[in-house]
Amino acid sequence: MTGTIVIDQERCKGCQLCTLVCPQHVLSMATDTLNARGYAPARLAAAGCTGCAVCAIICPDVCITVYREPARARRGPEVAS
Ligand code: SF4
Ligand code: SF4
Repeated sequence: MTGTIVIDQERCKGCQLCTLVCPQHVLSMATDTLNARGYAPARLAAAGCTGCAVCAIICPDVCITVYREPARARRGPEVAS
């Protein structure tokens, strides 16, 4: 399964919880910017997100939206005619 996320940079309070729980280790904290509230926000920093949504579930401020690649339609068995 492949996926991606979008983190609301202005809502993030830099608690790092999402970076700690991501099983793919693709999240990190910004080191070059602060948001308007003065926090270094989390970022998707590498490829490999599966769309598992663990980060979105743990985020206490509901900053993370998860997108998953749609499952491919399953085909039934071929029927000879
Ligand atoms: S959806 Fe899963 S794999 Fe993707 S960044 Fe969040 S915790 Fe990591
Ligand atoms: S868990 Fe939420 S508030 Fe905490 S660093 Fe991640 S995105 Fe920001």
